[in-house]
Amino acid sequence: MDLPKNAYFQGKIVPYSEAKVGVATHALNYGTAVFGGLRGYWNEEKKRLFVFRPLDHYRRFLNSCRLLCMEFEHTPESLTDLTLELLRRDDYRQNIYIRPLAYKAEEGIGVRLHDLKEDLTIFALPFGQYIKNDTSAHVTISSWRRIDDNMIPARGKISGAYASSALIKTDAARAGFDEALVLTQEGHLTEGSAMNIFMVRDGFLVTPPVTDNILEGITRRSVMELAKNELGLTTVERPIDRTEVYICEELFLTGTAAQVTVVTKVDYRPIGKGVMGPIGEQLRKLFLEVARGNNPKYAHWNVAV
Ligand code: PMP
Repeated sequence: MDLPKNAYFQGKIVPYSEAKVGVATHALNYGTAVFGGLRGYWNEEKKRLFVFRPLDHYRRFLNSCRLLCMEFEHTPESLTDLTLELLRRDDYRQNIYIRPLAYKAEEGIGVRLHDLKEDLTIFALPFGQYIKNDTSAHVTISSWRRIDDNMIPARGKISGAYASSALIKTDAARAGFDEALVLTQEGHLTEGSAMNIFMVRDGFLVTPPVTDNILEGITRRSVMELAKNELGLTTVERPIDRTEVYICEELFLTGTAAQVTVVTKVDYRPIGKGVMGPIGEQLRKLFLEVARGNNPKYAHWNVAV
């Protein structure tokens, strides 16, 4: 695994090896941190690195901060500027992943959110494909249930909540699957361990609503817009039953890491014809072109370093 070169840490950019916290740090003990995840795409023809939708990512990041009672002076614009400054220093010429992390930095014992010091770090590292099998993934329905808004809000990227995602991912991987789909307590589909889900049924795109314990994904929103503008497909946001994915025409996962990952089998049941379908294939292509900065119509989503 590649390590980051530098990190924005305690108010300045330092070599990654100097960005360290003590073992008594609140966030390390109690999971009281929130994070973001952005991708930077290296465009070889343009010889530039493009960050995908940083303002939208930082808007969500600051909302996640608010969920854990963290107040920063930062704005989406100032965090984007900091990120660009870090990336200019890093000088990557390959695809990267950018991780902003806001955490309760107090060192000591005591579970709470209030009256704690907080801090913010950002680092970036080389990053390629996340799901190897991203045109024919085989997923399972997890036996774990999705965290609920009244337990740990799923609409925020809260570090502690990812212990649940890790249980989901590891059990799926050890059973030989590429990913897992997770149900709410009531049995509706929510998302994968770190990606949103879409299915095609009767020619419509369908995805769970933001009130069904999903992360409000930036890729989800991008794919909905691309589907509407470029393929004339509107997305219906409604609860999805487990067995609907057994009989849907196409199924795919979206996320910063997963990009657009096409699922062709759920628990050994083929989706549609059991191979990548036309809508998933087109959306994959469209999304990757847009993210790399090769589609002028969506250039406002690409921020050049
Ligand atoms: N759901 C979860 C739980 C995630 O961690 C992620 C990754 N951030 C997503 C969905 C996809 O969100 P995005 O498209 O904003 O990366």
